Amino acid sequence: MKVVFSARQLRHAPDVFVSSGAEHPNPESPERADRLLAAATSYGLSVVEPEDYGTDLLAEVHSARYLTFLEHIFDRWQYIAGASRHVMPNIHPDGRNCGYPKSAVGQVGFHVYDGSCPIAADTWDSACWSANTAIHAAHEVLGGSPACYALSRPPGHHAGRDLVGGFCYLNNSALAATVLRQRHARVAVLDIDVHHGNGTQDIFYARDDVLTVSLHADPVRFYPFFWGYADECGTGAGEGFNLNIPLARGTGDDDYLHALQSALQRIRDFRAEALVVALGLDAHESDPFQGLKVSTSGFKRIAGAIAELHLPTVLVQEGGYLSDELGENLYAFLRGFRSHHL
Ligand SMILES: [Zn+2]
Repeated sequence: MKVVFSARQLRHAPDVFVSSGAEHPNPESPERADRLLAAATSYGLSVVEPEDYGTDLLAEVHSARYLTFLEHIFDRWQYIAGASRHVMPNIHPDGRNCGYPKSAVGQVGFHVYDGSCPIAADTWDSACWSANTAIHAAHEVLGGSPACYALSRPPGHHAGRDLVGGFCYLNNSALAATVLRQRHARVAVLDIDVHHGNGTQDIFYARDDVLTVSLHADPVRFYPFFWGYADECGTGAGEGFNLNIPLARGTGDDDYLHALQSALQRIRDFRAEALVVALGLDAHESDPFQGLKVSTSGFKRIAGAIAELHLPTVLVQEGGYLSDELGENLYAFLRGFRSHHL
């Protein structure tokens, strides 16, 4: 099994984000990727560099105006006297069926829905290489590898078709699923990050060829607050093809694994031909976000259960923040996955 990784992803490094109305050190740091890469290589995965896939595939997942915005907004921001160091929003519409302003400040408010996505000089380039990483891993799987691990960073599952949020700019898991759809009629995305995968849900909400399933801490008191409820089931042709499984804060291994079984059964019933795992490791009991209480050995059991789907699988790194166990959690996941897969 290979790990796809590009060091260009590390250049995106805004030092602060806004949470509870105040600036804090940004937990989505390049050091996360360093530790995850060390864990992947110590497990024995061989490192490959992604190719540059350009922007064609990005346009299948995101709107054209969104991609133009993301590519150019940092440069445009520099013309605003007295503006913040990093691009940050200060006004939002009450919905997105509204006018689309030309103003940089207005467009930031339209596209950036929270304070955890500062845009710096290297953000666009790093986000593109994070996307290339996931796309490359999906091509490895289409090319015959049973599984491949995309060490994508910044993460992607909170980025919607038109929306930046939750440290996410381009939706890497959605891009991997889009590549797998080139050869597979039905693709499932299973999101095990502690936060609901609202961006991925948004992108595939009206589709019946990509099933989206997310297990996460109940949004009633946890980010992303507005999405991730059990009654969000899809719309139009996509009705019945989105499954949210909110879990009580502090849920541990046994209850998590029990809930996971219903997620896996839905994927079996869907007759998925290929799988993307949106691999957040922030459900761990030591993660700074403190949503759930999955243990390191719990990740091994979770991975083993997922592997028993026996599907071609792209593992796409999502969240998982600095704790002493971050690398161990990836190692445990890879061990559990490899011992049961194909
Ligand atoms: Zn997360």
